Amino acid sequence: TDQALLRTEKLAVAGRLSAAIAHEINNPLNAAMGLLFLLKDSGLSQEQTQYVEETGQQLERVVEITRQTLQMSRSTSKFIAVKPAELVSATMRLLSPKLHLAKIAFDTETEGNAEVLGSPGELQQVFTNLINNSIEAMPQGGRLRARVRPSCHWKERTLRGVRITIADSGCGMPAAVYRHMLEPFFTTKEETGTGLGMWVVSELLAKHHGDLNIRSSMRPAHHGTTCSIFIPFVRSQA
Ligand code: ADP
Ligand code: MG
Repeated sequence: TDQALLRTEKLAVAGRLSAAIAHEINNPLNAAMGLLFLLKDSGLSQEQTQYVEETGQQLERVVEITRQTLQMSRSTSKFIAVKPAELVSATMRLLSPKLHLAKIAFDTETEGNAEVLGSPGELQQVFTNLINNSIEAMPQGGRLRARVRPSCHWKERTLRGVRITIADSGCGMPAAVYRHMLEPFFTTKEETGTGLGMWVVSELLAKHHGDLNIRSSMRPAHHGTTCSIFIPFVRSQA
């Protein structure tokens, strides 16, 4: 319909605009980070060092916002045959130092090595965002389990593809958080979050004709969150 078309166009313009802004922010941001780094070893008092560190942390958030925004709008992302099992394993390896440091026991279980059509960079961003959320949900440590296997869609049983599951034993989410989790800039991490991670996940998955299904529990003995992703083998021609 006209309404839907208008909405799509508006979103496309908003996407291009935010990408342009994010891109413009990058240079001055890098300059500021560089200058701040120089300040670090210039004989500051303990209090001043503290300020420099906190400034650095806040600038890191801006870096993360521009990074996620640019990731979203990279129109040049080419879809090729990719193996989700290999991408998930690579992402887990990449994040393993962070997982060790956070006292999180983790394992990756893959079944087969099926291919889907997708952008390796974008899919890796999806897995990274989910795993980072899991890490942040387990400040006291815990368990993280990644699984990749061939499967059918949970509703359309004839649709076959790859199912990727990221399950953590973290704090879980109350209903009020669960409901808004996918919205851009929604975060419960006031000082450290960007609120862009899950939004980017859902947008990138939509580009892959994928689906996202999240279960979360806060029950004392069974708390945790499980994110299930489904990516179909063949895209249906629209
Ligand atoms: P951010 O991580 O920057 O806060 P996200 O978009 O990645 O933004 O996530 C939005 C919110 O969803 C988080 O602030 C958190 O409250 C909730 N959330 C996401 N993943 C999990 C998880 N695995 N466990 C618990 N809460 C989660
Ligand atoms: Mg996040």
